[in-house]
Amino acid sequence: MATQEDLEDARLQQILLQQLQSLQRAGVRQLPRAGILSGEIPPGKPDQPPATSLSPVPEMQSTPSPENALEQLELLRQKVAGCTLCDELAASRTQTVFGVGNPQARLCFFGEAPGRDEDRQGEPFVGRAGKLLTDIIHKGMQLQREDVYILNVLKCRPPGNRNPSPEEANCCRPFFERQLEIIQPEFICCLGTVATQNLLQTRETIGRLRGTVHNWQGIKVIATYHPAYLLRNPAAKKDTWEDIQLLMREMENTTGDTV
Ligand code: SF4
Repeated sequence: MATQEDLEDARLQQILLQQLQSLQRAGVRQLPRAGILSGEIPPGKPDQPPATSLSPVPEMQSTPSPENALEQLELLRQKVAGCTLCDELAASRTQTVFGVGNPQARLCFFGEAPGRDEDRQGEPFVGRAGKLLTDIIHKGMQLQREDVYILNVLKCRPPGNRNPSPEEANCCRPFFERQLEIIQPEFICCLGTVATQNLLQTRETIGRLRGTVHNWQGIKVIATYHPAYLLRNPAAKKDTWEDIQLLMREMENTTGDTV
């Protein structure tokens, strides 16, 4: 018969497993030397994010560097997990969807918001649109999803997959700006109108924004159609392929390497 000690061990193992899975979903491929698993995350309610008193703008951590990108992203992920700034989204989400991929990626794909599948799995772009994005990355660019970083404007699913409101996008903006500040990509590929308009702070349509290279805080930005739009309008895949080729040319011209 299991003793109280056995039960406690099993519970701690379960907590540890969930934390590791969560880190993996956030793109963590190796653990920092200390911190994350040594008590900063209070045990006891593994499904609950740590109670965080979150100001509208996340506290700035130390200046990011490649060496501490993993740790900085994990600290930010914990803040996001506890965020309730948007009442409706916080109440209806299954979980927050932070981002996934290489914390030191040259290229970030920037989408709109989690959908139903993403809300369930806690990872961006995992549904049908996600599969198309994976094909673009893999078959089109000859890269792996793990080579890039994928994030959204919003970290919570808008009910019914409606568009994010301007207020919600503004609330979440400090989170994605901080993510990008930590990752320091050389390139951002915006997927769709909402992502492009929010990043570049413009009202221009995606039809006018695609096809050229923009600049956001020194990072080259290419805009193209959202994969969900491509599923509904396959004829636009040709335009997206042109945009991806433009992106690949820019990446090659920068270092002569596409990864
Ligand atoms: S969408 Fe962003 S700002 Fe709004 S509750 Fe979710 S994490 Fe917080």
